[in-house]
Amino acid sequence: MKFKESQKLYEQGLVHLVGAVNSPVRAFSSVGGNPLFIKKAKGSKITDVDGNEYIDLVLSYGPMILGHRHRKVQKGVEKALKNGYSFGASTENEIILAKIVCDAFPGMDKVRFVNSGTEAVISGVRLARAYTGKDKIIKFSGCYHGHQDSLLVAAGSGLATLSLPGSKGVPEGAVKNTLIAEYNNLESVKKHFSEHDDIAGVIIEPICGNMGVVIPQHNFLKELKAYLETKDALLIADEVMTGFRSKFGGAQELLGVAADITCLGKVIGGGFPVGAYGARNEIMQEVAPLGGMYQAGTLSGNPIAMAGGIATLTELKRQNPYHQFNKTAAILETILLETAKKYQVDLVVNRFGSMMNPFFTKNNITNFEEAQTSDTKKFAVFFWEMIKNGVFLPPSQFEAWFLSSAISNRDVKKIAKAVDRAMEKVAISF
Ligand SMILES: *Cc1c(COP(=O)(O)O)cnc(C)c1O
Repeated sequence: MKFKESQKLYEQGLVHLVGAVNSPVRAFSSVGGNPLFIKKAKGSKITDVDGNEYIDLVLSYGPMILGHRHRKVQKGVEKALKNGYSFGASTENEIILAKIVCDAFPGMDKVRFVNSGTEAVISGVRLARAYTGKDKIIKFSGCYHGHQDSLLVAAGSGLATLSLPGSKGVPEGAVKNTLIAEYNNLESVKKHFSEHDDIAGVIIEPICGNMGVVIPQHNFLKELKAYLETKDALLIADEVMTGFRSKFGGAQELLGVAADITCLGKVIGGGFPVGAYGARNEIMQEVAPLGGMYQAGTLSGNPIAMAGGIATLTELKRQNPYHQFNKTAAILETILLETAKKYQVDLVVNRFGSMMNPFFTKNNITNFEEAQTSDTKKFAVFFWEMIKNGVFLPPSQFEAWFLSSAISNRDVKKIAKAVDRAMEKVAISF
């Protein structure tokens, strides 16, 4: 397999782009080698500029849940393009997408569209503060909530991959209202409440995908929500990754909780820049122009992005691929575990719906500390061998793999072959 054209573009990219990437998760820092440049993608496959074709388990870090360039999405977007790109005024598509989203989340009466997951969370947190009149926010170590200053501490995959404890350029003042708790540990939340009386809420990934996939244990979310109610504090569900990934709606519903504020992104734009935050009327009332919490956006509710979101969610609802996602993920889990056993490699697999990933460790992974026991050197060897065998994975031990509804039985067989070769390579290398 040749990477000559990627190498060439990488060198050109270094001149005017930072590290030749526009998001550090696309750099290959922790797996070695240089990032691949992509030419095109269709269905379950993605093709790089050297013409190498891969089964895509990155899926743009989640959004491409129908696979690439789904016919209906393409049609919806092309139709919208004919009418203009942006107006600085409202369009009907915003109302249509808002109804689809609100109908899928019980307890979400209103939604506000923004342009990214980061923006959705910035606004969701501001809203929690506006509504409660309190300042402090608890976040969990290993959860990522976008790159806003106040939440860029103990923030999971991107930073963990680069071995950064936090971000430079974040002033102390920006994080002084951020408290860190441990995922799956309610006591660590209660401790903060015993020490502070101005906690507006807790933000959480209901299924964490940003330290690898980590699942809440033993009613953790239900107990957290019940506890927060006794403290007049809000539960903010960051479903930027999980929204519409494991059911049509939120992971919170599958887990039996209803968040007060929900943040969305990724899938709801189907590959176009869309984020959103929503809540019941009483809370959304705080947002301008109804209330005093200011939040705005020149391109928010962009008509092309809305068309991409409407087409994606409409088709997703029609296909209802969630049962199949579970089946495929279970098959891949078995393949990974049995192959690891065959080559005597320590491996744990976490999965939920269409999100999954293996950890090169023998420990159960229920929080960030445990995730970090994974052997990233083994992952790097595994990663490159998967690439060479035609499977595109995120270049980090701490990122989730995603399934699209375009994945076929043939693709699964090809992945199984690649896993066998990659696992053998790991076994020989260590
Ligand atoms: C991706 C992600 C974000 C940030 O979304 P962007 O669109 O990258 O700004 C926030 N929270 C979670 C849980 C995410 O997975």
